[in-house]
Amino acid sequence: MHKQKKEIYNFQSEVKQLLHLMIHSLYSNKEIFLRELVSNASDAIDKLRFESISSPKLYENDNDLKIQISVNKAQKTLIISDNGIGMSKKDAIENLGTIAKSGTKLFLKSLEQKTNKKNELIGEFGVGFYSSFMVSDQVSIRTRFAGTTANEGILWESSGEGKYNVTNITKKTRGTEITLFLKKEEEEFLETWRIKNIISKYSDHITVPIYMQNYDEKNKTYFWEQINKAKALWTLNKSSITDEEYKDFYKHLTNDQKDPLIWSHNHVEGKQEYISLLYIPQKAAWDIWNRDNKHGLKLYVKRVYVMDNSYEFLPNYLRFIRGLLDSNDLPLNVSREILQNNAVTGQLRKALIKRSLNMLDKISKNNIEKYQIFWNEFGLVLKEGPAEDHENIDIIANLLRFTSIKNNTSEQNMSLQKYISDMNEKQEKIYYITADSYLAAKNSPHLEIFKKNNIDVLLLSDRIDEWMMNYLIEFQGKKFQSISKEDLSINKFNQETKIKNNEISTEMIDFLKKVKKSLGDQVKDVRFTNRLTETPCVLLSDSTEMTTQMAKLFSAAGQSVPELKYIFEINPKHLLIKKICLIHDENKFNEWIKLLLDQALLSEKGHLDNPHKFIARMNKLLLK
Ligand code: ADP
Ligand code: MG
Repeated sequence: MHKQKKEIYNFQSEVKQLLHLMIHSLYSNKEIFLRELVSNASDAIDKLRFESISSPKLYENDNDLKIQISVNKAQKTLIISDNGIGMSKKDAIENLGTIAKSGTKLFLKSLEQKTNKKNELIGEFGVGFYSSFMVSDQVSIRTRFAGTTANEGILWESSGEGKYNVTNITKKTRGTEITLFLKKEEEEFLETWRIKNIISKYSDHITVPIYMQNYDEKNKTYFWEQINKAKALWTLNKSSITDEEYKDFYKHLTNDQKDPLIWSHNHVEGKQEYISLLYIPQKAAWDIWNRDNKHGLKLYVKRVYVMDNSYEFLPNYLRFIRGLLDSNDLPLNVSREILQNNAVTGQLRKALIKRSLNMLDKISKNNIEKYQIFWNEFGLVLKEGPAEDHENIDIIANLLRFTSIKNNTSEQNMSLQKYISDMNEKQEKIYYITADSYLAAKNSPHLEIFKKNNIDVLLLSDRIDEWMMNYLIEFQGKKFQSISKEDLSINKFNQETKIKNNEISTEMIDFLKKVKKSLGDQVKDVRFTNRLTETPCVLLSDSTEMTTQMAKLFSAAGQSVPELKYIFEINPKHLLIKKICLIHDENKFNEWIKLLLDQALLSEKGHLDNPHKFIARMNKLLLK
């Protein structure tokens, strides 16, 4: 037999970066490397099971699927082997020498920005196979792809420093055997009790049996001992599962180290048959705001693992939900394409949305503190709901939380239900204002008349709010109304502050005409206001026109926006207005009116196109 040639390869640069991070990592929880290797072994077995549905010969007459762990104390090695799908030479080079997944690349990017959180993120992200270099000086992999001949095996070796080599070898059994040459200071991983402990902590719910090799001192023989439960938790009866088990399973599923906030486990029979186990985390995943974040459920068909991140079953606005779906109705050979064009997918999606929203609804009623934790963490995501899911808009609206004038804190903890039940008897609509910040909303002059009449207004200041309010038309028969828009419904409760005709002098009527002339087409209209108590003037948007906040959203998105023309409303009872009314000098009068308009613009938009001009004009008038 002639000696096989070793081929030497360089790692892709991203892999080098990741390996460097692993080798020098100060991450204290190094034991997760075993979780990662066992999870890969289990994935490989799942893949074999799945592929063999269409080509049974892949089993090579060995269908006793298992993962085996053994140690060699003399050589200080830890060996993890599986009889799963294995890797061809090409697979090994692609899968272990490059990073194909955009998720991992993004993860590396995010590490660059968060140097101080690096170590924490390693565990959360689960950096996969490369984490074995946290504990090893050298890693060797013997592997052979299922269904190939014994001489098509390969040996992959690396010390994690820039290069790896690949050699053709003979391997009788299909699957993968990974040998870790442990670093001197990591010899604890040679202890059986330590390995058992890690497996029961992270891998109890792996559905493949995991065996550990043990030595029987008395008989001087080796034997294999199963060290995990290997039961698919979700298939068990709900009543036989403890909260602890649900929590452990969640951690196993997601790599999250925190307990989930809540979960919902359902066995459904009838027209559709499926099991779903849905969790809501306490904390958002690190990539929840990345465009291509990997959300979605783990999909099983009749207990067989099919794929991760099947996002087809939940809409974007529920992307914080983690968990799994095990369907009896989907075909076993289901692919992404089939999923997307399948009527069953649509029905399951509908059902899972309902389940998710019901889970939230229940918690919002039964455990307000928990719901508030949820809202503070994921409210911004749920606010995408009204735009994305018209069908469930009423349920979603009921789950939204707001702050308001009367709420008196910036925390969003008031439901629309509560708002409606506290409505003033003369009040027809649900009033709201959108602004750049809570303080800007809270201090807006638009609120004056509402405060005076003891009518509450929702204060909205998240960026998405204006967008969301475009889709929220009414709630339980009450229409939503932006208070920075012209609207007649305020007259219903505004008898007292309303200006009566006999209160307006002829001088004032002349004054109004002069203001109109002075401003010309800078404004849409000029009129006396019913809305103000403390401020001299305010700007309103026409009921059919775009609001200021919407215009800001558009221009922030790089779209051109037509110039907004406002209705300029003047408070004839205000002292400053009364004073300006007496000015006869036309130039001086025009200066004052311009100043008033700029004040109103500043208050409405939060900025002025030309602040210097405004300051110069004000200083000039102050000096007089
Ligand atoms: P991930 O599991 O998230 O894909 P890993 O870094 O853990 O990332 O593994 C990289 C790839 O290497 C896997 O996707 C798989 O293709 C391959 N691989 C790793 N371990 C095994 C194994 N035991 N059997 C077959 N393939 C494996
Ligand atoms: Mg992995």
